[in-house]
Amino acid sequence: MTGGIRLTPQVALVGSGEIGLSEACDSHVYLVDAGGPLVMVDAGAGIAPERIEANIRSLGYAPEQITHLLLTHGHADHAGGAAHFSAQYLSLRVCAGRLTASFLGAGDEHAIALDAARSAGVYPPDYRLRPVAVAHALRDGERLQIGGCTVQVIETPGHSADSVCYRVAFADGAALFCGDTLFASGLVPLLNTHDSDLAAYRRSLESLAAREVDGLYPGHGLFMVGGGSAAIRQQHERLQGSIYLPPVLNG
Ligand SMILES: [Zn+2]
Repeated sequence: MTGGIRLTPQVALVGSGEIGLSEACDSHVYLVDAGGPLVMVDAGAGIAPERIEANIRSLGYAPEQITHLLLTHGHADHAGGAAHFSAQYLSLRVCAGRLTASFLGAGDEHAIALDAARSAGVYPPDYRLRPVAVAHALRDGERLQIGGCTVQVIETPGHSADSVCYRVAFADGAALFCGDTLFASGLVPLLNTHDSDLAAYRRSLESLAAREVDGLYPGHGLFMVGGGSAAIRQQHERLQGSIYLPPVLNG
């Protein structure tokens, strides 16, 4: 028996394969209570989205209250479930960076490196990307007012060309939903894929290190409910301070 996990008054974890909260291929999926409307950050792989829906209900919310689904990038563990949520809930708008929007709209499995990931055994052999029309293709710096929150879009290429982070400002602080751009463990999230890019990543990390956030909510591994800015700056300094790469993601 599982259920959603409330992390702060505004943020809950409603999906995660790695802790058994939802299907094994799912990234972390967060639910943000914007004081009325609900925002979901990432959607899991779409193999068993009903488990995420059950976790949302276990917290006393209804998936029908979700007005925005924000995607951090097109990798299938984060975005593969978007087609399901978009089709199932008419009041939910799928929002994503411009590149992600074009990849998902076209169902382009190569652009999101699903071909490589499937060959490597990350997904079942019969897993396919369900295309989805993104309602709102976001620009760098764009701000969305959702309920009592302001969401700022920050393009952060590096892990993938289409990665974006969302800085969400609440009345009492701010949180960064960073997808696979930052991990609390300090791992550098570069992949052996066609669009992972160290030079772009260095620029993205520099831009993030200049921002103030409390919470840090990555797509995998640990999250932080406070101290986010200090952790980001530490990672930035670590990457700047060596000509050798710090440990990278490996498996
Ligand atoms: Zn990814």
